[in-house]
Amino acid sequence: MAIQTACAESQETRILPLLNPQTRARHDLSKRVDTIPTFYAEMSGEELDRRIDAARQELGTRLVVMGHHYQRDEIIKYADYRGDSFKLAQMAAKHPEADYILFCGVHFMAESADILSGPHQQVILPNPAAGCSMADMANIAEVEECWQMLTEQLGDDAGIIPVTYMNSAANLKAFCGRNGGIVCTSSNAPAVMRWAFSRGKRVLFFPDEHLGRNTALKYGIPEHQMTVWNPKDPMSSVDAEEEIERARIILWKGYCSTHMRFSVQQIEKARAEYPDIKILVHPECRREVVEAADLYGSTEYIIQQIEKAPAGTVWGVGTEINLVHRIAKEHPEQHIFCLDPIVCPCSTMYRIHPAYLAWVLEALLQGEVINQVSVDEQTAHWARVALERMLATA
Ligand code: SF4
Repeated sequence: MAIQTACAESQETRILPLLNPQTRARHDLSKRVDTIPTFYAEMSGEELDRRIDAARQELGTRLVVMGHHYQRDEIIKYADYRGDSFKLAQMAAKHPEADYILFCGVHFMAESADILSGPHQQVILPNPAAGCSMADMANIAEVEECWQMLTEQLGDDAGIIPVTYMNSAANLKAFCGRNGGIVCTSSNAPAVMRWAFSRGKRVLFFPDEHLGRNTALKYGIPEHQMTVWNPKDPMSSVDAEEEIERARIILWKGYCSTHMRFSVQQIEKARAEYPDIKILVHPECRREVVEAADLYGSTEYIIQQIEKAPAGTVWGVGTEINLVHRIAKEHPEQHIFCLDPIVCPCSTMYRIHPAYLAWVLEALLQGEVINQVSVDEQTAHWARVALERMLATA
């Protein structure tokens, strides 16, 4: 059975793994099981709730459950912590007593939790098909090819600092660690940009073109000093060499399919309907959307802005729909809606279903660890170097 990635309005009842070789484990150490037993896939919601509760109780403090903001409510209700990817990885590191970290999010997040947690801890991604389409837009072979082409063209004093978004595979974070680079999140990207330009002349930013551009503009770099690197067709334009020479920012051609759905037309429509509306969007949106908004920032920033707003505020929000629905429910004193009325949830986050939680938790009770995400020591070492540089910029 194929993964169902239907919109919020769909009647989706059960999700089974995607048997796609491209989504298989990225590391030899990752033990991945591709097929959830039909028994769990066919279980009722009530039965799953009962089993998950019982297993959590039995595992006690040996287990900690992390829930990313974009997870659906049926998952979030089991989370000991909810947050963005970085906050959750930090929380994982603060629970050395937990033998198991159940990460309800996507693959790169589970990797980061493994890198930042202790060697005695095991990180589990309930459904190994939960990847991130943006993270998958940059792989290590393409990044190394790009690095080689850039350094060959620009010479020894190229001064390129590689910066990877948190939403990337561990081996790309390790690449940054080894090459004098750093990791950033959507909250600290401007500070990371400052860090990079205090050490080099150019930034190679991957995998999200839009976060890179929005951050660089905020930092004061004009668009004509940026160029886009298309890994599928590098250096193809006639003036590619000139553009690279001129560029202070080289933006990887990657994007988040969820945040690319937001448009200036949606903002104009919302403003026409509610003249006092505040438009709040995520920096993974296109430049023109960010410019048309009143405010933009990370998931945590979006939550904070709404939490501190007075009753009666009207918000049009441009980010993942599970989060928008949840904030709207938690703040009935304000009017909060998603700018895209038919927006789908992040299709990869959606691959975590309670059936997977019940399956992996009951396996733990039997002493079996299913779908562990484990990063090899060398990769983890260099990725940690890049992550620690980021922490030191705070
Ligand atoms: S919302 Fe976008 S960036 Fe976040 S996990 Fe989904 S695809 Fe990746």
